[in-house]
Amino acid sequence: MIQRTQSEIVLLFLSALGAITIYLFAIMRLANDEIVVAIIDVIIASILFAFFLFVFITRKVDIAKFALSIFLMVAVVLQVNLQGASAIHWFYPSMLIVYYLTSPKSAVKICCLSTPIIFALLFPLISLVDFILILVTTLLTNIFSFVIFHSYHKTQIQLKLLATTDPLTQVGNRRALNRDLSDLIISQQREKYVMCLILFDLDFFKKINDNYGHAVGDEILISVCKLVVKNTRVFDALYRYGGEEFIILPLKVDLLTTATLAEKLRFMVESHQYPLDVHVTISLGVAQYQSGETSQEWIRRADSALYLAKSTGRNKVCLADH
Ligand code: GH3
Ligand code: MG
Ligand code: MG
Repeated sequence: MIQRTQSEIVLLFLSALGAITIYLFAIMRLANDEIVVAIIDVIIASILFAFFLFVFITRKVDIAKFALSIFLMVAVVLQVNLQGASAIHWFYPSMLIVYYLTSPKSAVKICCLSTPIIFALLFPLISLVDFILILVTTLLTNIFSFVIFHSYHKTQIQLKLLATTDPLTQVGNRRALNRDLSDLIISQQREKYVMCLILFDLDFFKKINDNYGHAVGDEILISVCKLVVKNTRVFDALYRYGGEEFIILPLKVDLLTTATLAEKLRFMVESHQYPLDVHVTISLGVAQYQSGETSQEWIRRADSALYLAKSTGRNKVCLADH
């Protein structure tokens, strides 16, 4: 079963709730013989339902969040245009949703674009006092939303980073690896590209710890990670799989090209100058993804290749069968 992120669940919930509520309003309008408003309500509710289906099927949350924010503001403008001042009540929850869905800066831009249009529509319809009241409450809603959601988004980013980063080496941790592996396999099943992973392990690392101390061992882990990150392409990510075992993925190239990169890394790790002149080498296993296999099966094949590299002398690259 697909595990949905919190963002997806919130978007699905919002679009479904919005669609159902507005369909109900459409029925009420129809009962009151307000045919045009009812048709507009049905269109808005149907678009919200289309958002629901889009997120449910594609899981493209970022596009949906932005598009839904724009759409909400367009819908409020349309409602105020058709129904007059009473529709302004939709403006406040819509603004809050826009702040929740997008970054505070984007939310300010989206709200600032729609506000003048809404106020231009409202101005001839209500008294000056009511107009000023709505203007002030809109301004306050925007200011408070910006302050609250700015700190909310900042905390979210920091928490996400903390939850997915290895504290010692600053590369992705096991949780980030599992998440990215499952996303990768889902997109590979759709697009069918070739992809490989490299699993590598530091050779005789226990001896390094025993001879130079755990703190030097830590420094070496950090140096090796920095070296690998610097020398792999930006879209290749490095993850700490276990103590001194790491995984690089996704390498969207074939097995032989990945093996060449692995060999380059092996050479670079061996030639690098480490603190206290410690001699460091790594053994690497390379495996190309086979259609239909699980992430564990893919890693297991890379692990067998790594085991072969270890058992046939270390400081070398071995390829997994496929
Ligand atoms: P091999 O070549 O077969 O991989 O030998 P090895 O000594 O590297 O392998 P082994 O699995 O016996 O030892 C791994 C060592 O890595 C043991 C453990 O103490 C050390 N280690 C794991 N995590 C850390 C860490 O965060 N910091 C330090 N300094 N050492 C660590
Ligand atoms: Mg080791
Ligand atoms: Mg190991």
